[in-house]
Amino acid sequence: MRCLLLTVLLLGSLPALALDRFQVEGYALPNGMQLLLKPGNDRGHVAIRLVVGVGLDDFSCADKELPHLLEHLLFSGVDETGEGGLEERMQALGGEWNAFTNNADTTFVIEAPASNQRKILDLLLALLTRTRIDEKALDAAKRVVEREDGGHYTHLQRWLDRQDLSHKASNQLAVELGLRCAERAEVEPLTLRKIEQVRKAWYAPNNMTLIVVGDLDRLLPAYLERTFGSLKPVEPSNHEPLAQIRYSAVTKRNLIRGMVGNSAKLHWLFPEPVLDEQHDETFDLLKDYLDWALYRQLRLAHGLSYGPWTEREVFGGVGFFSLNADLAREDLPEAEQALEALRGSLLKDGLDPDTFMRIKRAAIAHQTWAVQGNSALADYYWSALGDYEDGRFANPAVRLQAVSLDQANLALRELLKDPGYLRIEKPLLSDDELVWGMSGLLGLLLLGLVVWRVRRRA
Ligand SMILES: [Zn+2]
Repeated sequence: MRCLLLTVLLLGSLPALALDRFQVEGYALPNGMQLLLKPGNDRGHVAIRLVVGVGLDDFSCADKELPHLLEHLLFSGVDETGEGGLEERMQALGGEWNAFTNNADTTFVIEAPASNQRKILDLLLALLTRTRIDEKALDAAKRVVEREDGGHYTHLQRWLDRQDLSHKASNQLAVELGLRCAERAEVEPLTLRKIEQVRKAWYAPNNMTLIVVGDLDRLLPAYLERTFGSLKPVEPSNHEPLAQIRYSAVTKRNLIRGMVGNSAKLHWLFPEPVLDEQHDETFDLLKDYLDWALYRQLRLAHGLSYGPWTEREVFGGVGFFSLNADLAREDLPEAEQALEALRGSLLKDGLDPDTFMRIKRAAIAHQTWAVQGNSALADYYWSALGDYEDGRFANPAVRLQAVSLDQANLALRELLKDPGYLRIEKPLLSDDELVWGMSGLLGLLLLGLVVWRVRRRA
């Protein structure tokens, strides 16, 4: 009986024990720094994310690499032991760190043993406040960033970029529409003075959010107030308005990729119309729906592509939705027809209600296991910072539930109503074209030889 009672009690209290991942304690320090602290299920570990509100979108084409270069420079060292000494100190504390510069932010990503969380935050604070950046460090960081971008920007590479020969298809379209820089940003002209300006203007507590998830130290709030709370705020800088479509682009274009081969890639891109409500959830559901529709059309019905896929990407202030397929070169016309037929039937008949409901239910079900563990939870908060309000993040399952079939149909029709942009990547010549071309050349050569001999005899 006591056992049973205990079981009943345990079972009864389980839902309350389960982690409500959307409820998070968040507050601002007096200097404007935002804190999000969340006790997680995994013991002995904390995931730390320091999000600095400065990213690639905040800079012109020439200065694009400034925030990325600064991110690297901040690991140059906090004392005379330099970069190596800094890394040794992190090793001694048993933690790991890295940083990423995105379009909208620069984020320091740290995994740490819970027992050393305050010492590791001390090290992060030292990196922010005590890193000395000199010409030597700048030079070293430039080499690293250059290598990350794919090696030294050669004259050939620049020429290829100018001729639209080396961009990914969606990037290429973004360049054509004026949403993206045509050439890769260079690090060489960036000076120490510019780097220091970025650091001063953006690396301030009122432009930072610190997320800590996991086995939180009891003293963490008081510690943070004493340490990070002493950082001086600055006059906030304004973010540049995001790029909008400035030029028109042709609806269909072939892009040369490589010299010879029989494979091709088809990309059909559509700018996403902006929806007043549940924009992302609606297009995420349409993405799942069209993934399935593409698979049925191109793989099951026509056997043209093994793994066709859909993609959502953002360039500047414009979102793009794309249908993509790996194909054999000779199947391109048939694939184009099959896709045009799919677009036609979607515009005419809309979404199939049963399929839409099944896909929506699956998307909601995925939410129950989509985010697991401290680190994934911290990453989730980082990606959803815009959805945080009054101590809660918006629940994606609830927002997905709110997308009606009518709303999805409306968005779909709006998305597909214009012909979009078809971009086909293929090598310059097919295998056959190469063989025929070579044979032709050989034939001409032989003919020339014969003519030459005949003439000499004459
Ligand atoms: Zn980097």
